[in-house]
Amino acid sequence: MAKIFIEIFGCSANLADSEIIMGKLNQEGHTISGSLEDSDVAIVLTCTVKTPTEVKICKRLRELNGLGKPLIVAGCMPKVEAELVREVAPKASMVGPNNFLNIIEVLNDTLRGKRIEAIDGGPIDKVFQNRVRKNPTIHIAPISTGCLGYCSYCIVKYARGRLHSFPIQGIVADAKRAIREGCKEIWVTAEDTASYDWNGYKLPDVLRNLCKIEGKFYIRVGMMTPNHAKQILEDLIKVYESEKIFKFLHLPVQSGNDEILEKMRRNYTVDDFREIVYEFRRKIPGLSLSTDIICGFPGETEDQFRDSLHLIDEVKPDVLNISRFWPRPGTEAEKMEGQIHGRETKRRSREMSKLWRRISKEKGFKWIGWEGEALIDEVGEVGEAIGRNCSYKTIVLKENLPLGVFVKVKVTGSGIGYLKAVRV
Ligand code: SF4
Repeated sequence: MAKIFIEIFGCSANLADSEIIMGKLNQEGHTISGSLEDSDVAIVLTCTVKTPTEVKICKRLRELNGLGKPLIVAGCMPKVEAELVREVAPKASMVGPNNFLNIIEVLNDTLRGKRIEAIDGGPIDKVFQNRVRKNPTIHIAPISTGCLGYCSYCIVKYARGRLHSFPIQGIVADAKRAIREGCKEIWVTAEDTASYDWNGYKLPDVLRNLCKIEGKFYIRVGMMTPNHAKQILEDLIKVYESEKIFKFLHLPVQSGNDEILEKMRRNYTVDDFREIVYEFRRKIPGLSLSTDIICGFPGETEDQFRDSLHLIDEVKPDVLNISRFWPRPGTEAEKMEGQIHGRETKRRSREMSKLWRRISKEKGFKWIGWEGEALIDEVGEVGEAIGRNCSYKTIVLKENLPLGVFVKVKVTGSGIGYLKAVRV
C-alpha cells in the first residue's frame, strides 16, 4: 500500500475531483499523506484557466519531476496542454479531467515505473463516489461537467468538454450521505450550474430536492452564466426563497460593454445581466452578489473599459473576481487583433480593484451592528474562526471555534471582503 501526497490547484470542480480520487485511493487501502517527503507518489490536480496559475504549476511540476519520485499529473492541463506537461515533467504519468476514475490502474502502473497517459475518456458521472473531504463541514456537489458555451477566451471548455449533467438521484443521495456524515454546507458546483439539464430536470429541481433533505445546513449555488440563468429565472428565484439556500448569487458578467461581450461570445447583454441582478435583489432580501470581470480583452477601448467600471459601480457586488486578460493557447481570443500590452491590462485591473475596494468598504460598513447566526466553516491562517451568515458574508471572529457550529454573532467592523464580529 502506498502513501500518497496530493496537491490541488484551481476551482471547486478540481477540489471535488481530488476528494473522489482520495476516496478511491482510501478504498484500495492507500493512505493520503500530508507530507511530500514521507510519501511514495505525488498526484497534482492542475488548472489551466489563467497563465500565471499555469506558470506556477509548471514550476511546481518541474520541482516534483526533479525529485525522481513517481508523479501523476491530473486536472485540466493533461487534456489541453499535454505537450507542456511532457516538457516540464517528462517522467510523469497523466490522467485527464474526465478519466480520473481510472486512478488506481494509473497509480499501480506508475508505482511499477511505467509512464502512463490516460488523458481521454468520459464523460463520467461524479455521483455515488466515496469521498475524502478536505473540509469535513463542506460537501462539494458537482452537478455536471463541461458547458454549452463557446466563450472566445476560455480554455476550460476544451478541458471539460460539452455539458454532461449528472443524475439528480445521485446528487441528492450524495448530499444526504454528506449531511448524515456531519456536513453543514453543500456547494452545488459546475462550470455553469444554470445549464444543468438531466432528463428535463433543471437547476431549480436539484435545489428543491436538496432543500427537502432533513437537517440544518446551507446550500451555496455555484456560478452560472447569465444567458442560462435568464431561462430559469422565475423558478430559480422561487427556490432561492428557501432558508436552506445562502442568499448568494455568483453571476460572472466579464464586461460592462455589449460589443466586448459579443467578441467574448458570452450570449447575453449587459441589460440581461442587470435584469437578473435587479429581479433577484427585488425578491430576495439580503442577497449577496458575486461577479467576475476581465480587464483588457483584445480590442477593449478605454471607453469600453469605463463601461465595465460604471457597471460595477452601479451594481456594487459583494464579491468581485478581477482578471487581466491572458491569451490562452488554442482559444479564439488568443488570435484576435488588438491584443493589449500587459502594462495596460495591469493598469486596468488595478483601477478595477481600487473601485471594488471602495465598494467593499462602503458595503461592509452597512453591516456593522448586524446580529444573527453564522456557520463556522473555515479556520483562518492564525487559527481564527471564519463563518458565513445567510447572505454568505465572510465573518471573522477572533477566537477558535470548531468547524460546523452555528453561533450567534454581532458585526463590529469590516475589512475588504469580510466582516469582523464577536459572539453574543
Ligand atoms: S461557459 Fe464559457 S467561460 Fe464558462 S466554462 Fe464554458 S466556455 Fe468557459
